[in-house]
Amino acid sequence: MHYVKNKRAKDGPCNICTNTRSLSWDHVPPKGSIEISTVEMRVLYETLAGTNEDLRIRESQNGLKFRTICGECNEFLGRNYDQVINEFAVSVGRYLKSTLTFPNIIQHRTTPVKLMRGILGHILSAKIDFDNAQLDEQVRGFLFDENAIIPDDIHIFYWVYPYDCTIILRDIAMPAVRGDFSNSGYFQIFKYFPIAYIVTNLTTYEGLDELTIYRHLPINAEVDIPLRLARTEHYHWPEMVDNGNIVLAGQSASNAVFSVPRIT
Ligand SMILES: [Zn+2]
Repeated sequence: MHYVKNKRAKDGPCNICTNTRSLSWDHVPPKGSIEISTVEMRVLYETLAGTNEDLRIRESQNGLKFRTICGECNEFLGRNYDQVINEFAVSVGRYLKSTLTFPNIIQHRTTPVKLMRGILGHILSAKIDFDNAQLDEQVRGFLFDENAIIPDDIHIFYWVYPYDCTIILRDIAMPAVRGDFSNSGYFQIFKYFPIAYIVTNLTTYEGLDELTIYRHLPINAEVDIPLRLARTEHYHWPEMVDNGNIVLAGQSASNAVFSVPRIT
């Protein structure tokens, strides 16, 4: 039995700057990305494993949030990156909710370096256990330096996600190619309406578009990126375990949380 955990003690090491401070609540995704509602938080691992009976569910009245980063880091993400994350989410959401017909692939303008940095920052905060996993260490190393380029072995892919659940899964390994168990990669998964991201050491994954091809752009550079409106996957893709996929998970994955709006 796993209980939903989304906070640590009030004081502790910050998941981003690692200083021991008073910890603050970080909304993941950030406020302004989606309508904040009362959500039910569940432990993802038990849901995936199908052990739903006796599942402990906790409610949060204002969306999914984690008490894992200090006020300064929280404010840093909010000031520098959340606006770009939210603008991207709100405009992609408009396409998905629209009754108009769009081409299968459209181009949408965003600020990819800020978008990537913000996504990585919130992915770090969405882990209840403080640890020194490789990605966490790498992100800590460049996040506060505006001129630093996201390291070459971090690849971020994205696709549209027309579901109202939020799923954050940290530090798992899966086959690099579904159905082929000879090679695997490390993954971080962060999905919410209307867009999903995976962060991996792999240079390609299932034909998804890559954000990190823009890693060398200046932090404020805007560019049109492709959005494949016609490509949707199951809401538990790619972490679902099936004939073509297995998931190797550590402690942080067994504490992974997903949330769905409470049905009132
Ligand atoms: Zn901090």
